[in-house]
Amino acid sequence: MKIICHGGAGHTPKVQDGVDKAAEKGWSVLKETDNALEAAITAVIIMEDDFRFNAGTGSCLREDGSVQNDSSVATSDGRMGAIANLRNFKNPVLIAKELLDEFPVMLAGKGAIEFALKKGYKQTKVKGSEKGWTGDTVGAVVQSSKGDIVVASSTGGVRGRPVGRVGDTPLWGSGFYCDEKIGIVATGVGEAITEQLLCYRVAQHSENLEEAMEWGVRLLPKDTGVGVIGINNNGQICGSSNTSMPFSIIER
Ligand code: ASP
Repeated sequence: MKIICHGGAGHTPKVQDGVDKAAEKGWSVLKETDNALEAAITAVIIMEDDFRFNAGTGSCLREDGSVQNDSSVATSDGRMGAIANLRNFKNPVLIAKELLDEFPVMLAGKGAIEFALKKGYKQTKVKGSEKGWTGDTVGAVVQSSKGDIVVASSTGGVRGRPVGRVGDTPLWGSGFYCDEKIGIVATGVGEAITEQLLCYRVAQHSENLEEAMEWGVRLLPKDTGVGVIGINNNGQICGSSNTSMPFSIIER
């Protein structure tokens, strides 16, 4: 059993306690249920509800002062769900999770909002935060004792970007990737991560996760903040970043 959580590329080490708490809560769900999906969702919700992170309640503001959320979830049994430009839902990761068993697997804007309402989620004002720069998205990767892997990620995007802008977080292969061998999520400047199809390429690069991640981070310019975390079925669990990226690992 393993869990790794991050609090965003570029975020201060001062929020390490928030990332540790997310990993601990996710771990306790994993220990109790051996359900990697529930553990990953629990961990992400803890950080979405922590105003210090750029996700859920603390999401950064767009150019027009609004909050728009992107989120994604994927599982090693071949399912994925993602939402983009969601507005005013407390925990966007729960809506992405709902899409795991739907077809379409990805919804944006008005369609995502209607889907969430239909599923019984209530729209509530998400205040957002004027702080937060390019980094601080949150993410989790979890592996159960049976070997299932799940990835989950959630973000308010990047401060000051235009309304309707979609970063890497909800884009399959860019901000998240999962198959039966590996699960990876990314954080950092979404445009650069998307251009590199970062998570998919890291997953294909090498059996050695640490080496693959270091290679992946180097695909982006040094001054473009980026980070990745992941787990593979060789028993490796790690994170790599070219900037500060609080992350937390628990394994047994
Ligand atoms: N990757 C996110 C985005 O570009 C931002 C982040 O990781 O903080 O939307």
